[in-house]
Amino acid sequence: MALIVQKFGGSSVADTDSIKRVARRVVETKKRGNKVAVVVSAMGDTTDDLIDQAMSIDSNPPEREMDMLMTAGERISMSLLAMAIHAEGDRAHSFTGQQAGFFTDARYGAAHIKAVKPDRVKAVLADGDVAIVAGFQGINAKGDATTLGRGGSDTSAVALAVALGADVCEIYTDVDGIFTADPRIVPTARRIPCGGYDEILEMASCGSKVLALRCVEYAQRFNMPLHVRSSFSHRRGTLIVPDGVDPRSLPNID
Ligand code: ASP
Ligand code: MG
Repeated sequence: MALIVQKFGGSSVADTDSIKRVARRVVETKKRGNKVAVVVSAMGDTTDDLIDQAMSIDSNPPEREMDMLMTAGERISMSLLAMAIHAEGDRAHSFTGQQAGFFTDARYGAAHIKAVKPDRVKAVLADGDVAIVAGFQGINAKGDATTLGRGGSDTSAVALAVALGADVCEIYTDVDGIFTADPRIVPTARRIPCGGYDEILEMASCGSKVLALRCVEYAQRFNMPLHVRSSFSHRRGTLIVPDGVDPRSLPNID
């Protein structure tokens, strides 16, 4: 039985129909005999909308309150996804960054993860249920909510996968993997079927902005395999593995 962390970005959970689609995908992955922990981003443009609202009140809002506000976006998507999984006939439990044991430093808006102690997530998985974790957030030593910086849910997903000892961290987006250029803009862009961390880091810095650089570095540090793929198709995406690992050995690739 494989343990899979699936991360769904804002475009994959943009509205309630999308959330239902994601719920079906999670349940399907479980039915194939895997344990599944999920990390979600905020729905669509929610985070940008929250920032706009804050700026319309104060162009220099207190950082602590800003992070408190920003963590709200992921709480919406995680609880709606848990409900959608229940509606599919399975059991799911959502957790904030704090509840999931994400401890960070004190840098509001750009916090770094110091430790992940996902005891409650582990308990849920041991019961055969789905655990859903709010991406992009944690808690500092004072007990206040912190956020990891824009796009930080990818890093949350990899950090959770490492802490759980998962077999793979799947990053779901709206394109079929990592391309040589942005496929939404350059029609001749080629999908990269698989690669090592260094190769992908080079691509990512060349503008193929499918996933956050920091998450690839984190994955490399702990040899966590990544599978970047689309939540809109079942095609195999881009497999990123440590040297010497056969990408075809990863679970849930077909
Ligand atoms: N919702 C946050 C953002 O838009 C985090 C993420 O999507 O990864 O930056
Ligand atoms: Mg987002």
